[in-house]
This record gives sequence, structure tokens and C-alpha cells, in this order.
Amino acid sequence: MVTTTSFNTTKSEEIFTAAQKLMPGGVSSPVRAFKSVGGQPIVFDRVQGAYAWDVDGNKYIDYVGTWGPAICGHAHPEVIKALQEALVKGTSFGAPCVLENVLAEMVIEAVPSIDMVRFVNSGTEACMSVLRLMRAFTGREKVIKFEGCYHGHADMFLVKAGSGVATLGLPDSPGVPKSTTQATLTAPYNDLEAVKALFTENPDSIAGVILEPVVGNSGFVPPDAGFLEGLRELTQEYGALLVFDEVMTGFRIAYGGAQAKFGITPDLTTLGKVIGGGLPVGAYGGRADIMAMVAPAGPMYQAGTLSGNPLAMTAGIKTLELLKKPGAYEQLDRITKKLAGGMLKVAQEAGHDVVGGQISAMFGMFFSNSPVHNYDDAKKSDLQKFSRFHRGMLESGIYLAPSQFEAGFTSLAHTEKDIEQTLAAAKEVLSRI
Ligand SMILES: *Cc1c(COP(=O)(O)O)cnc(C)c1O
Repeated sequence: MVTTTSFNTTKSEEIFTAAQKLMPGGVSSPVRAFKSVGGQPIVFDRVQGAYAWDVDGNKYIDYVGTWGPAICGHAHPEVIKALQEALVKGTSFGAPCVLENVLAEMVIEAVPSIDMVRFVNSGTEACMSVLRLMRAFTGREKVIKFEGCYHGHADMFLVKAGSGVATLGLPDSPGVPKSTTQATLTAPYNDLEAVKALFTENPDSIAGVILEPVVGNSGFVPPDAGFLEGLRELTQEYGALLVFDEVMTGFRIAYGGAQAKFGITPDLTTLGKVIGGGLPVGAYGGRADIMAMVAPAGPMYQAGTLSGNPLAMTAGIKTLELLKKPGAYEQLDRITKKLAGGMLKVAQEAGHDVVGGQISAMFGMFFSNSPVHNYDDAKKSDLQKFSRFHRGMLESGIYLAPSQFEAGFTSLAHTEKDIEQTLAAAKEVLSRI
């Protein structure tokens, strides 16, 4: 364990101890607290490219990428330069700004389902707004979501919500009124029959179905063949809307998101993470006739003081420009395939039961001996072993998401050498856990 002897996190521990007196759990968002893997979280000092440095000077190869946005690598020089230029013109206008047109055009051109788009400040905001829009357009109240899918922390979605909630073992959250969630129906992911049954029971009252077209919030779980197609047909049959929450998958699974990759066009789409290039941006968009409901064009109210601000738009525009360059997604796929395939191989060689995979720049591995098609399958993983793996990797300079129920992310900044170093560390850690 040569690599672990120099691992010192004294400063991180000091800062996090102080933070716990200042902020609930010491963090601004729950999964950062390492609750599910134990031990204290690492306090970051700076990030650049594929790397993060903590306050004690340890360097990590980062596969969290600020939970998705850093797909071009952290602090990309072109993004930073564009931001510096935008900054001096002011950070927020509260008035129309031509940069909104630029990003809107890029999003509309890229994402098959989007004719018109509304910018907001987070994925949560995008999803809560899209839900209101689904209900406003259809005049129906019920919505189907899937167990283990996360659509932000709005009340109506805090039912079997995966990731952060799953990690903390909270089935629901106190403070969410029953009256709010009783219109939220749930089904297991990849279970078309369960969705059919919900439609049969509620033929005229379901506004739509919302899902992660590739799940990242129960760990990495791709859709089974026919699942997305089946949802498209069912929603059409019952006059309900199909909504892809592409906050994680948008511009990651492909430039046009999972809908471009799988060739299934939903009615509405939510975006976040990558579209802000590390600044707070979310968006929802879709068919023009549905988007025409949104105020001030239509009666469905939704607003935001900082929405579409020039800094956030600039980071988004630059990030999409970088991703649009020929070969970007081929590079992401090649690097991630090498990582995910290599990880499964070294784990199996060390005698562990593992399943996992990768699509484009999103990957995952479960410590499990059976395939994972949904959240219940994911929960069968050996979480203790994952904790030991996570800690071992951290001490070897590899920063993985601190939960078995999170997907991993790569970026254009990750090199073959980074992947090789990661696999060498994994091999060593997996031999002793
Ligand atoms: C991260 C995420 C959200 C919430 O986005 P925030 O910007 O954290 O509010 C919603 N849906 C999915 C699929 C996500 O991965």
C-alpha cells in the first residue's frame, strides 16, 4: 500500500469539522457528505482538466466532474476566457440578451424534441416547471415516474427518488405533503407491463411519463431494448406526454442526448448540468404547441430573476461549441469504454462479482452477481465492498462518486494515461478489499 502512506487529509478534516457547525451536515448538497461510504469528504481547493486538488495538496483523477457539467474538463481555458470577457459586461441583465438566442438555437438544433426552450437555473427547476407544463397542457394531474430516477428535489418528485435520497435511505422526505405526492405514480424502471397497468387503471388522468432515458441516479442503468419505444407508444395511445429528463444525459450520451442516440423523440425534455458548462443553467423545451403554454406566450406561469443571465449562457455556449467539434463524442466513447471495460476486467480477475457498462461519457459498475435493470436490482449490490473500494481509490488518487447509486463521468480532458493509471490503482485496491 505504498500509495496510501502519504495520504494526508488533515486540512480537509479541519475544514469539514468547522463546516458541520455552519451548514447542515457540513455541505450544500447531501451526496457530497460521503455518508454512504463513510469517512470524511475531501475539501477541494481547485480543479483543472481531468484533475482535482484538495486543500492538503493531494491530486485526484476526477470521475465526478462536478456531477456532470465538466464534460470538456474542468476550467477549460476557452470557457474561462469567454467568461472573463462576458464578466466585464455585467453578470445579470434581467432583460433580454442575445446570448440567450445563441444558446437556444444551439439547443434547438441539437435536441430532436426541442422546437422552443425556456432557460432556468437548475435541473430541479427545469423538472418542476416541466411537470407544471405537462399538467397545464393535458389538463390532467397524475404523472408516472420510475423508482430510482431523480428529477430534482421538488415535492412531487420525492417519491422513490434514487441517488441522494437512496444513499441516505430516506424513502421519502418529511415536509412533503401526502396531497402533493399522491398524484405521483411509480413503476420499476424497464418494466413496461407495470406502466401499462397504471395506464389501464387511470386511462384519462395521467398527464405523462417522466424518466431518465439512461439512468444515472440508481447507478448507471441503461434502458432495455424496446423500453423507450414502448413508453412512446403507450403515452401516445393514452393522450399523455412523454418527457425525457436529460439533465444528466443531455449532451453527454450524444450531442443530441439519449433521444438522439436511441432515436426516440419525447414531447418534452429537461436539460441541466452540461448545458451550463459549470454555471447554474437548466432548461426545458419541446414541441412548439406545448411550449406556447408557457408565460408570457401562454397562461402557465414560470419565471426567474437570474434565468438566462449572460455569464451562464456564455459558459453553456462555449461548452457546446467544444462538444460540437468533430470527433468529440468518439473520443469520449473510446476513453470511457477503455475505463469501464478495464474496470470490469480487473475486478473479475481479482475474483469479484461485478456488472456494469458505459454509454458515451457515462459509466458504472455494481458489486453484484446479477444484472441490474432497475433500482431493486441495484440495491442488491455489496455496498460495504463499494465503500472499501471507494476509500481505496480515493487514497490512490482516484475520485469516484461516493455512492454505489451514482454513475461515473468522463471528460474530453481524460487521457489514455489517466485511464491506465486509474485501472492500475483499481487492480491494486481490488486485490485487497
Ligand atoms: C442532477 C439531476 C437533476 C437535478 O438537477 P440540479 O441542477 O441538481 O437541480 C434532475 N434530473 C436528473 C436526471 C439529474 O441527474
